[in-house]
Amino acid sequence: MSSGLHQIGKRPAPASGPGDVATPAAPADGDAAAPDVASDAPRVLIETYGCQMNVADSDMLVGLLGRTGWGRARSADDADVVLINTCAVREKAEDRVLARAAELAALQRRRPELVIGIAGCMAEHLKESLVERAPWVDVVAGPDSYRRMPELLAAARAARLSPDAATPFHAVDVRLDKAETYEGLSGADGGDGVSGFVTIQRGCDKFCTFCVVPFTRGRERGTPPREVLRQVRELADRGYKEVVLLGQTVNSYRWEDATFAELLRAVARVDGIERVRFTSPYPVDFTDDVVAAIAEEPKVCKYVHLPVQSGSDDVLTRMRRGYTVADYRAIVARLRAAAPTIALSTDILSGFSGETEADHRATLALMDEVRFDSAFMFTYSERDLTFAARKLPDDVPAADKRRRLAEIIALQERISAEAFAAQVGRRERVLVVGPSRRSAAQMMGRTDGFKTVILPADLPAALARPGALVDVEIERATMATLFGRLG
Ligand code: SF4
Repeated sequence: MSSGLHQIGKRPAPASGPGDVATPAAPADGDAAAPDVASDAPRVLIETYGCQMNVADSDMLVGLLGRTGWGRARSADDADVVLINTCAVREKAEDRVLARAAELAALQRRRPELVIGIAGCMAEHLKESLVERAPWVDVVAGPDSYRRMPELLAAARAARLSPDAATPFHAVDVRLDKAETYEGLSGADGGDGVSGFVTIQRGCDKFCTFCVVPFTRGRERGTPPREVLRQVRELADRGYKEVVLLGQTVNSYRWEDATFAELLRAVARVDGIERVRFTSPYPVDFTDDVVAAIAEEPKVCKYVHLPVQSGSDDVLTRMRRGYTVADYRAIVARLRAAAPTIALSTDILSGFSGETEADHRATLALMDEVRFDSAFMFTYSERDLTFAARKLPDDVPAADKRRRLAEIIALQERISAEAFAAQVGRRERVLVVGPSRRSAAQMMGRTDGFKTVILPADLPAALARPGALVDVEIERATMATLFGRLG
């Protein structure tokens, strides 16, 4: 069963998609490459699919490989090793990775010394069966195996270069480790130079019935606060202005007695950091102390991604999401009472097992009521290992799934257009990220509420630089972008 992903607006870092922690499986912007080392060093290219945690993990791998003597490749043609960091949230995501691995296999036939590795959630999900489906893959490494990546890649490369290279060699390392938080490892680049990621939590204990993440990422564990703060200070020292705290259910974070609210406040007070975001939270873990930290800390952005999935209690129960529609409404009300300007985005999963037309209408009604600024919208597809795949029929006809998703998208487009239009005439403080995609003369930035703003081409030089904070008056809007001038 194919799945569909549709996004209106953007969010800083995902969460699993169909659930809270994974985004679309598409190559991330800026595939990671290892720092330059000796010119004769073997070169690795990492291609990243999936969520922002994968982007952060790829960056960490680049740093680790760079420190252990690997150079950076700029393309697969230039690489001794191509490592694909993968997503398993949707079948389509895995199909795309297999298609990419097959393309690399063609390159490997021309250059038999080329090592191909698959890392991340798909590696963990498929394990040895991945090698059966794609025998040209040399290394299969799950998300808790990255410290061993230099040895895994070196062994695969030695096998490829040996006189016995015709003998198949496969390194499969998919051990999950409930203690692994990668403490002490820093990323190579940290992000885009303005906004950097810090993973504060790995794994998930929620076991929503549709979601494969707990099986591919293992049990929930928090990164020690000292390590989180070390990484945040490192980003600040490198000139980063914004930090995005990542976790599958990030606001469930705990490390010994330390809570997410305490960590959020501590990160917001790191010198040099102007904005703090986090993703992806779990709705019922918005405890009062977390809501207060968002409301009271000026540097914590007034933006929350709050994955609802469905507006029907029956569907939420079958999903085992741990809240009712009334609970969800109450969380929204508490957030809006504490921080009236807060922007909200969400995930919606359409066509889950047993979803009726009435359930679907209830989802549309909830969207109309809450009025999310943006949304990620998906159709349900079964993932093996999950409770839903084993026990709940995937019984909504594909045509109904497509039509319901189209209705959800149409509604969200209208709501987003209205939400963005309501910004016209307002003054916003915008963090400049870089040149806009459409015109190098224009700069692009983001509001505190995570709305993209295109700035005029004639900004003063002091403001036309990534990392600048600019006061802007919003002049016009589309359903996903604001346009402003200095205000
Ligand atoms: S199981 Fe965890 S990662 Fe998956 S949707 Fe539920 S909370 Fe999110």
